[in-house]
Amino acid sequence: MFLSCLLSKQRWKMLNQINEISDKPLTDHKEAPTYLCLHGHFYQPPRDNPFTNQVPIEPAATPYANFNEKITVECYRPNAEAGNFDYINFDLGPTLASWMENAHPDVYERIIEADKKHRAIYGVGNAMAQAYNHTILPLCKTRDKRTQIQWGLSDFRHRYGREATGMWLAETAVDMECLDLLAQHGITYTVLAPWQAATNIDPSEPYLVSLPGGRSITVFFFNAPLSGGVSFDSHMTNNADLFAESYLPEHIVQSKRNTGEAQIILIATDGELYGHHKLWRDKFLTHLIQIGAPGFGFEVCSLEYFMRMFPPSKEVTLRTPSAWSCGHGVARWDQGCECTEGDSSWKGDLNRALRNLSEKGDQLFERYTSETLTDPWAARDFYLPIRNGWETVESFWRKYSKHQRPPTDQLVAQRTLLLLEAQYYQQCSVTSCGFFFEDLDRIEPRNNIACARRAISLTWQALGIDLQPEFVHDLQKAKSGHTGLTGADMYRQLPVVSAGQLPTLSP
Ligand SMILES: [Zn+2]
Repeated sequence: MFLSCLLSKQRWKMLNQINEISDKPLTDHKEAPTYLCLHGHFYQPPRDNPFTNQVPIEPAATPYANFNEKITVECYRPNAEAGNFDYINFDLGPTLASWMENAHPDVYERIIEADKKHRAIYGVGNAMAQAYNHTILPLCKTRDKRTQIQWGLSDFRHRYGREATGMWLAETAVDMECLDLLAQHGITYTVLAPWQAATNIDPSEPYLVSLPGGRSITVFFFNAPLSGGVSFDSHMTNNADLFAESYLPEHIVQSKRNTGEAQIILIATDGELYGHHKLWRDKFLTHLIQIGAPGFGFEVCSLEYFMRMFPPSKEVTLRTPSAWSCGHGVARWDQGCECTEGDSSWKGDLNRALRNLSEKGDQLFERYTSETLTDPWAARDFYLPIRNGWETVESFWRKYSKHQRPPTDQLVAQRTLLLLEAQYYQQCSVTSCGFFFEDLDRIEPRNNIACARRAISLTWQALGIDLQPEFVHDLQKAKSGHTGLTGADMYRQLPVVSAGQLPTLSP
C-alpha cells in the first residue's frame, strides 16, 4: 500500500540511468569487505474506528479481514519466523506495533527479540524508532515536532527496553529544526535520500550534519538505484545469488575497495515489499542476508554497527525542507504538487481545515489545562505512556500537576485527561498518509478526518464546546477530483456515534 512512499518510479528510472557512483564491477572478493545494510521501514497507519478501536472489515483485503491481517500473513510473519529481522536494520511504526502486539503477539515478540539478539551479538541494536504518527515533521509547529519525537521515543523505550539511538522520519522529511530536535533527544543518526543532500555525496559512507549549539547528527544516504530497483523491478529480486553477484558489485566504490577503505551499500525500502508488495521476496531476503551476500564478499550489518566502526568524517549540507518522495520540498503533503496526478488543490484545503481545527483545539487545551498543569505542552509530551497504561496516572500528576498530586475536583481532573486525549487524536489527524495519494475520496484522508472528529468529540465531552460546524464548513472546500465528494460529505458519512459523544450536526 505504501510502496510508492519510497520514491516515485519516474525518479527511480532516472537515477537508474545515471547510476553515478559505480566504478567497475567487482572481480576480486578477497579484499576488504563491503558492508551491506537492508533497512525495512515497516509501517501501517491506524485503521481502527477511533470511537470503537475496532478495525472495520476491508473488502479489498479479502480473504483477510483487513490489510494488516493480509500483510501479516504475507510479510510480517514469514519475515519474523525466518529470522530476517535479526540481520536487517528496521523500524516498526508505533501504530503498526501497537496493533500487532494485540493481534499477533508471537510475531510482535519475534521482531522485538531481533533487536535484543542483535545487541547481544554486535553490542548495538538494529531497530530504529519512528516519529510517532508518521507526520511530515517540517510541516509541524516546533512543539508538535517535539511531541512526535517524544512519543516515538517513549513507544520505542516501552517496546525494546532501551533508549533509541536512531529515528526514522516519515517520508524522510526533514528540516534543520527536526534534526536538531532529534539530536537534543539523544538521537545520533537517521536515513535520507541522496537527493536531500545539497552538495555531491558518496552514499557509501555516512555524513555529519552540523547543528546549533555544537550538536550534530549522522545521516546515511540510501543507494537510490538499488533501493528503487528492489522496490519496483521484480527481475532484480528474482534470485538472491544473482543479486549479490551481479547487481550489488556495480555499486561498490572501487577506489575505496582498492585502498581497503570501509564502505556501505544501504538499501532502504518499505519493509512490506518483502512478501506483500512483492510475492516471495521474504525468501529472497532470507537467502540474500544469510547466504547470497556473504558468499559474494558482502558483510551484512546494521547502521549503528557500521557507524560505531566507521564514524562519519565528512560534513554535508542538506536541502531543506525535503523528503524522499517529493521533488518540491514537502509540497506533496502541504498544498499539493505534480508528484500526484490531477488536481491536488484538495490537499491545501484539507490542511487548512485541519490546521484551523488544531489551532482552536490547542487554544482550548492550553487555556483549560493551565488550571491544573504546570506546563501543558510538556505534559502532552509525557502523555503517551499514560494513555497506553505504561505509566500510572498518579505519576503523571506528580510530575505535571501544579500541586504534584491529582486535582481535588474530579471533574477538573477528568477534563484535563479528556483534553490530553483530544490532543492525541489531533496528532493522529495529520498523519502523512492522508495527503500522499492523488485523491481526497480515499480511505487515508477519511481516516484523518475520522481522527479529527474524535478530537472534536473529546473536546465536546470535556468542555461542551462544539468545533464541528466550523470544521465541516472548512472541509466543504476540499473536493475529490474523482467522485466530486467534499470533505464535508465524507465527514457526514462517518459512522454514527451516540449523542453524548457528539452533538447532532445540522444539515
Ligand atoms: Zn512534489
